Amino acid sequence: MVEELPKDIRSFIDGIEITEDGALIFKGRRFVFAPGVLFSVSLMGALVERFSRVLGPVGRRALVNYGRRLAKELESLGAKGVLEYYLSLEHLMGFGRNELVEFSESRVVYRVYGSLYGEETGAYFKMKGIEPTATCNSGYIVEGILNYFAEKEGKPLFTSEEVKCKAKGDEYCEFVVRRAA
Ligand SMILES: [Zn+2]
Repeated sequence: MVEELPKDIRSFIDGIEITEDGALIFKGRRFVFAPGVLFSVSLMGALVERFSRVLGPVGRRALVNYGRRLAKELESLGAKGVLEYYLSLEHLMGFGRNELVEFSESRVVYRVYGSLYGEETGAYFKMKGIEPTATCNSGYIVEGILNYFAEKEGKPLFTSEEVKCKAKGDEYCEFVVRRAA
C-alpha cells in the first residue's frame, strides 16, 4: 500500500519532522532545504558548462537509476501511477508545477511550469554569458520509471527529450518521452 502524497506544498512542509540532530524527515525519508541557485548550478549548470552542455553519462545514469528505484518501490501503482506520483513529489519539493499532457503507449508528454532548473540555470547561463540551452534533467528520471515497466513487459524502451525550456526563454519546460519503434 502506497501512502498518499500531501495535496499541496504547505501540507508537505507541515508533515516534515525534525530530528534531534537536525535531519528533516518526511515519511521516513530525509530531505534538505537548499538555495535553488546552489542546487541547480551544482547539479546542472556547472556540469553542463564543463562537459560541453551534455549531462555526463554518470550523472545521467544516476537519474535513470533513481527513476527505476522509485518504479520498483511503487510498482503496484503501474507506470502511469508511478509517473504521476513522481511529478507530484517534484512539485511538493519546489522544483515547479508539473502537468502530464499525454500518456500513450508510444509517447509521454509533460510540462514543468516555473522549473527550478530552468529558471536558476537559465540565470546562471546569462550571468556567465553562455548561450542558453535546454537544461532540465527530470526526463532521465522519467525514462527510468517508464523503462522499468517497459523491460518487465518486454517492450521497446523510451528516450526523453526536453523540447522547450525556461532556461532558453520558453514559457515552460516540456518533455517528450518516446518509445523506440
Ligand atoms: Zn527546462
